[in-house]
Amino acid sequence: MADFITPKEKSYTDWYIDIILKAKLADYSPVRGCMVIRPQGYALWERIQSILDAMFKETGHENAYFPLLIPESFIQKEAEHVEGFAPELAIVTHGGGEKLEEAFVIRPTSETIIWSMYKQWIHSYRDLPLLINQWANVIRWEKRTRLFLRTSEFLWQEGHTAHENKKEAKKEAKTIFSIYHTFAKNYLALFSYRGEKTEAEKFAGADITYSMEVLMKDGKALQAGTSHFLGQKFAKAFNVQFQTKTGNLSYVWATSWGVSSRLIGAIIMAHSDNKGLIIPPKLAPIEIVIVPIGKQNVKQMIMKHAHQLFKKLSKKFRVKLDTEDQKSPGWRFSEWELKGVPLRIELGPRDIEQHSVTLAVRDTGEKHHVTLEELPVTINKMLNDMQERLYQEHKKFSLEHTFYPNTYDAFKQIFNNEKLGCAIAPWNGSPKVEKMIKEQTKASIRIILSQKDYPLQGKKCLFSGQSAKHMVLFAKAY
Ligand code: AMP
Repeated sequence: MADFITPKEKSYTDWYIDIILKAKLADYSPVRGCMVIRPQGYALWERIQSILDAMFKETGHENAYFPLLIPESFIQKEAEHVEGFAPELAIVTHGGGEKLEEAFVIRPTSETIIWSMYKQWIHSYRDLPLLINQWANVIRWEKRTRLFLRTSEFLWQEGHTAHENKKEAKKEAKTIFSIYHTFAKNYLALFSYRGEKTEAEKFAGADITYSMEVLMKDGKALQAGTSHFLGQKFAKAFNVQFQTKTGNLSYVWATSWGVSSRLIGAIIMAHSDNKGLIIPPKLAPIEIVIVPIGKQNVKQMIMKHAHQLFKKLSKKFRVKLDTEDQKSPGWRFSEWELKGVPLRIELGPRDIEQHSVTLAVRDTGEKHHVTLEELPVTINKMLNDMQERLYQEHKKFSLEHTFYPNTYDAFKQIFNNEKLGCAIAPWNGSPKVEKMIKEQTKASIRIILSQKDYPLQGKKCLFSGQSAKHMVLFAKAY
């Protein structure tokens, strides 16, 4: 049934797009670069939102909302910020049929408008820390777009925090980064490389950008979440000073951080197969679908049992009862596989006779006969096992596709499409060398790896022969 999805091996890009369109996650819109997120896709975003939102609140953050339009002059206040974002801005010049005195930028991110408000709200150390998050949409005029992974308008959360001192702000940026990592690992079943961005790759206006990079099955890396330590740049640009405990005036320290609807693209690419979507159980909007099957004469009786089972399981799990009775069981099974529901319960006359069900597992395709008595415990175990299996598989794939070349030639071969994956190599820290490698191989430095996990041990830079400053992760990126 699902042969209408282009096999991954034939074209990874077509496979990815087919899954999105056929599983009805999203559609192209009349607006270039902007997508329509359909209910199946939006349900995934709602799960991402609700889980992350709880994690942010547990760590003391509150939600707020700021305007979509930002006065153009605000964006221009921070030099690096405006330079980084200028090519991606959408600008509103007219309103109410008249040319506006000052144009508005549609937010590409909200640092500037938020810091203009923080100036009014922060006066003393007692006003700090200020830990605010916003769930919103942003627009960045992207030249090359792809559904979910890179769109001109996307959904995200953006945290913007203000602190008394550098240490506290850096700690905040790291706390959030570790929330992102926990979320990616425990819910999205994604293995990630984590580290700091180089000067050339960091967020426009940040002192440090921490980034989580996830390897996709075509060997490209996806920047899946970023947390920025902004230093005092925005506080200085908007003159946000506070009275310290000792009575002095000091500029506030800042962070900002975000993940976006791109995460949905990451899940599709990392876990799915040629039958369609595979959703990690902890994220899945529907964990189990019950599919009653039987001929006309027993239909009513089966439906009655199915409803009872649905009622019972709904107390513990996110369950859906499939009431479609015009299509064949085979068609319905493929449809639920395409949609990526982790477990499918098939309920037919024989199952009812035996007080059991048939339980099909989405990723392995295995089927098990389980008695009604054992069902809740078995479901629990199968969901947990599947969650763990998806993470371990993605981790295995990522490690097996991470190479440690010893020469620049060997490095080039990886990115010549001879191999699929990313590379870890020692680098001398020179932006010139970084630029040269990107021009020659299209692979960029995704992150600087921590010396604790990736010790230098006197290594020489693979590209210049000089002594190396960092071990870094190279990949072609989405
Ligand atoms: P940034 O503010 O640039 O650090 O971006 C925050 C996060 O948003 C990034 O880590 C990406 O995961 C995501 N992101 C950036 N640009 C896009 C885009 N065009 N479409 C979807 N997600 C994006």
